[in-house]
Amino acid sequence: MIRIENLVKSYGAGNAQVHALRGVSLEVQSSEILMLMGPSGSGKTTLLSIMGCILRATSGSVRIGGKEIVGLPESKLPRVRLEHFGFVFQGFNLFPALTARENVELAFKLKGLKPRAAELLERVGLGDKLNTYPRDLSGGQKQRVAIARALAGDPPIILADEPTAALDSQSGQTVMEILAGLARERNRSVVMVTHDNRVLHYADRIIRIEDGLIAEDSEELAA
Ligand code: ADP
Ligand code: MG
Repeated sequence: MIRIENLVKSYGAGNAQVHALRGVSLEVQSSEILMLMGPSGSGKTTLLSIMGCILRATSGSVRIGGKEIVGLPESKLPRVRLEHFGFVFQGFNLFPALTARENVELAFKLKGLKPRAAELLERVGLGDKLNTYPRDLSGGQKQRVAIARALAGDPPIILADEPTAALDSQSGQTVMEILAGLARERNRSVVMVTHDNRVLHYADRIIRIEDGLIAEDSEELAA
């Protein structure tokens, strides 16, 4: 699905330069839930952002479905992003002035697709909240709207940055059940950053990042 080799990302220049990723190699398989853990500032969000074509690498190789994206012109990245990825963030990032349905519809429109928002909201258990605004939804419900939005166009890979961090246990479990269902039943890959010990048992694989490098990979421990 994704093959990353010797990925380096530095921010800034000269004395102010920060080496956020210092040579990371990993593969993401289809249908797997891969969790990225590690201390704050270790490079997790940077890694997720480069995978998702939101941020450009300094050097190394990132192949998505066989296609190299490092060095692609900036103008080509949105297309790769739209084709392959759905994004879920800790803070939900819903538009407050739009209903649940409209928030999801917007994602379809951005992809130039006919909106099937109701269907996706039903899939995440929010069939009765189509016309509800974010302010009238609980945190868990907002995150489920965000997941429905990420599923617009059926992308093969869901990237999530601490999707359960702002949620109570029960809502976090519900969100994880939805993500796990996607991986198991619909062969989607889920790559998520988490600090949340309550959800680790959903992982097929856990990679620990420290100081811009992979410090531990549960798959290699098992091998
Ligand atoms: P994590 O998600 O693991 O907390 P990040 O990937 O956000 O880590 O950050 C890794 C390192 O890169 C940190 O030292 C952070 O301060 C730095 N960093 C992140 N984004 C930027 C940026 N836009 N400009 C400069 N430095 C950044
Ligand atoms: Mg982060």
